[in-house]
Amino acid sequence: MGRVTRTAPGPQPDPHSLRPRLPSPVLELTDGPFARRGVRLLLKRDDLIHPDLPGNKWRKLEPNLRAAAAAGDRTLLTFGGAYSNHLRATAAAGRLLGFRTIGVVRGDELAGRPLNPSLARCAADGMRLYFLDRARYRRAADPDVRAALHDRFGAFRLIPEGGSNSLAAQGCTELGRELRGVADTVAVACGTGGTLAGLAAGLGPRQRALGFPVLKGGRPHFLGRAVGELQTAAFGGPRGDWRLDDRFHCGGYARRTPELDAFADAFEDRHGLPLERSYVAKLLYGLTTLAGEGAFAPGSAVAAVITGRP
Ligand SMILES: *Cc1c(COP(=O)(O)O)cnc(C)c1O
Repeated sequence: MGRVTRTAPGPQPDPHSLRPRLPSPVLELTDGPFARRGVRLLLKRDDLIHPDLPGNKWRKLEPNLRAAAAAGDRTLLTFGGAYSNHLRATAAAGRLLGFRTIGVVRGDELAGRPLNPSLARCAADGMRLYFLDRARYRRAADPDVRAALHDRFGAFRLIPEGGSNSLAAQGCTELGRELRGVADTVAVACGTGGTLAGLAAGLGPRQRALGFPVLKGGRPHFLGRAVGELQTAAFGGPRGDWRLDDRFHCGGYARRTPELDAFADAFEDRHGLPLERSYVAKLLYGLTTLAGEGAFAPGSAVAAVITGRP
């Protein structure tokens, strides 16, 4: 395949050698719409966990990397769109820990084109990129597509799109545990829903989790079902008190509206905190709208999970 392959396994790569900053810090903000209602706003700074594997990407990948190392798997194959934070984090983990990484990218129309900055970063970290047409990408779990990938790449450990499998959901329970007793409502932006599935399972009895999908469902119950299935796979059944609010995707993944941009610019100005725009800005926009609607009781505390950085 024209690549250097490892001939003898080295020492087992240990994700904790990367020194994650855990538990991640919690920062309280005074922000008008919350303060006016007597609601405390806390930011759970998961974006500070690790510079190359920020936020939920650390929490979801760490147990997968540990399992791969324990099984002696040295090649990771995973899936993502052309701007996937998960592909970038996996590529970085491969570089830092000595895994070979293969990124299957949605859309073969991108194959002949120059790499965008996100994919260029993956390639610079040593990830081998493979562009798959959208029809087969959607069927990535089917045996024939799987077999074709094995024919092409040999043995690999497969991590699903967004990194969301049962190990990932289990890894995210720690996020919930770190927030026990800290807030009444904990909110997170959702792509695949793996983070919400684990977060809700880790929270304490009187806390609730709130997810803001950033993808336009079209199928309203699709993400809710995915979260439920992940909880069943990871924990044997439903866990915790969680729900989704589907009003703040702003047109879909990586889409934005003038209202969202105005909100995010003003929030950044008020607090000097740059916001990641695909997920985190939509989360805070949604929470701020809910606060204005009186959705949170006076005297209660809301924690927003800052899952990434710009
Ligand atoms: C991947 C990602 C998410 C979504 O996590 P899921 O577990 O897929 O729902 C949220 N925020 C950021 C910054 C991300 O990179």
